[in-house]
Amino acid sequence: MPRPQKERKVLEPPKIQGLKPVGVPARFLDRIYLTVGEYEAIRLADYDGLDHQQAAEIMGVSRPTFTRLIEKARRKVAESIVDVKELVIEGGNYSFATQLQRCMDCGEFVRFQFPKQMTTVCSTCGSSNIVHLNEWFAGRGGHGFGRRGGFRRGHGHQG
Ligand SMILES: [Zn+2]
Repeated sequence: MPRPQKERKVLEPPKIQGLKPVGVPARFLDRIYLTVGEYEAIRLADYDGLDHQQAAEIMGVSRPTFTRLIEKARRKVAESIVDVKELVIEGGNYSFATQLQRCMDCGEFVRFQFPKQMTTVCSTCGSSNIVHLNEWFAGRGGHGFGRRGGFRRGHGHQG
């Protein structure tokens, strides 16, 4: 049995569930799984430009753990580009600090902290075609409030 992984603190859900290579039929594609924690490591270190110590504190892990996390994450992203693999973001042990919804008609994002703040109608365009991004990842390794299940189970990926 692997040692249970310490929960990674993640600000909010990734805005996508994955990335697909362009110009390659789906039947030729293998998948590579980036955990939500690995996604967050890339966001903090490579997108926000934080150093490993700062990023480790934000995610609630040690600096060596963060360094391993970002190295694994970069390796996977590189492999998805070079070996042409579909990059799927899922799994790992994590919790989101923020809830994120998106209007699928106008693209507007809404962030909130508590269930009662969840919206059913877009304040920008009036559409009710709203997705709750945390739900994408619910039952796939992380947790938070709200409905669970209805999604593919995680694959036990560590990271
Ligand atoms: Zn809208």
